[in-house]
Amino acid sequence: MPLSTTTLRLILGDQLNALHSWFSEVRAEVVYVLLEVRQETDDVHHHAQRIIAIFAAMRALARQLETGGHRVHYLRIDDAANLQAIPANIDALLAHYGAGVGSFGRPDAARIVWPLDRAEALAHLDAFIQHGLPHFGHYQDAMHMTAARLFHSMLSFALNTKMLHPREVIAGAEDAWRAGHAPLHAVEGFIRQILGWREYVRGVYWANMPGYGAHNVFGHGAPLPSWFWDGKTKMRCLRHAIGQSLDDAHAHHIQRLMIIGNFSLLAGLEPYQVHQWYRGVYVDAFEWVEMPNTIGMSQFADGGLLATKPYVSGAAYIDRMSDYCKGCHYDKKARLGETACPFNALYRDFFERNAERQSGNQRLGMVYRNLSRMDDAARAACGEQAAALRARLEEL
Ligand SMILES: Cc1cc2nc3c(=O)[nH]c(=O)nc-3n(C[C@H](O)[C@H](O)[C@H](O)COP(=O)(O)OP(=O)(O)OC[C@H]3O[C@@H](n4cnc5c(N)ncnc54)[C@H](O)[C@@H]3O)c2cc1C
Ligand code: SF4
Repeated sequence: MPLSTTTLRLILGDQLNALHSWFSEVRAEVVYVLLEVRQETDDVHHHAQRIIAIFAAMRALARQLETGGHRVHYLRIDDAANLQAIPANIDALLAHYGAGVGSFGRPDAARIVWPLDRAEALAHLDAFIQHGLPHFGHYQDAMHMTAARLFHSMLSFALNTKMLHPREVIAGAEDAWRAGHAPLHAVEGFIRQILGWREYVRGVYWANMPGYGAHNVFGHGAPLPSWFWDGKTKMRCLRHAIGQSLDDAHAHHIQRLMIIGNFSLLAGLEPYQVHQWYRGVYVDAFEWVEMPNTIGMSQFADGGLLATKPYVSGAAYIDRMSDYCKGCHYDKKARLGETACPFNALYRDFFERNAERQSGNQRLGMVYRNLSRMDDAARAACGEQAAALRARLEEL
């Protein structure tokens, strides 16, 4: 059999880096392959915007490559020849092109507001540096019913699909500081998110896969209440954070961590199901970054591989950081009774239930000192309230 000279290069939905060295020269023997497949759309329940944004960005890159003279084979989701799975399509394309070598990219990899090509991503970055960066950090942990974005960059989609390189985002922020446009604390805080957290979770993922997703140190097994899919809960904070996530395919870090993740952990939801929800809902969710954030940072299901303590709170924190509690069906100050805020009893009960595992954690010293001040009757009442709440999560 003659050796084929055609090379297929597969570009996945999170590998849309137009500056990749592959594209620096046009090579007649190379065919770039981009595949929209049900294998990727049907693995978890995906937000429609997430799929549309990724497909639109893939199509934009394909057009750009074709305009630049590259050979491109693009299979749309509704193409009759689409076998809807990456391996099956690759086998078919290898046969079609008589290609001897299939070289793969690195495997690490109406309301759409997300940048869908590199030019849009650069414009988005510029606008953030101009208007958002000088204020980054001031309101980083704040949550407001009428302000979804605050001063967050909304750059995670462009970064995770590789339309932007983290280094150029960091360089842009540093330049803004050098030019006196943004203060040091804002720029330092922003760079730390990318150079610090983003790279750190990436390391945790690759150091612990496969198997990281199976962690469940607390043995939590409750299914997600159905209102995770429509936001219809009486808890105003969750109604807003979940509703916004379902509408926009985005919520900022504290909404993800201290509202939705906080409740999931306190309520004892199964971490893997929580992970599947996050993976499907957020436009920027790709497993390497989503899973450590959900299983590790938010659910502490890895027992502390990623974080040093579980991120949970009662209503007092949520009330301090947001305007959610005003007008809520539940009473943010109450711990017991029909209309007491569910977070309050669940929070104390979480630490009570897990005292053996957690009380030695130095970062939780204050929590356990406060718990020890509660008398036995108050503790028992709190435990009963929490058990009753966990038994009727669907109705909250
Ligand atoms: C449970 C949970 C799930 C998450 N899932 C994802 C996910 O699937 N994809 C994702 O990109 N981020 C995820 N994050 C991290 C963070 O919430 C998002 O990166 C951020 O909200 C994106 O919005 P932004 O671009 O406006 O961020 P900004 O607040 O403007 O931050 C700037 C950039 O820093 C990076 N960053 C900040 N924090 C983190 C972090 N903890 N991990 C990784 N990168 C970080 C992001 O690239 C982000 O774009 C998750 C956090 C939690 C608690
Ligand atoms: S009172 Fe409780 S449930 Fe209601 S918004 Fe505040 S924290 Fe959420």
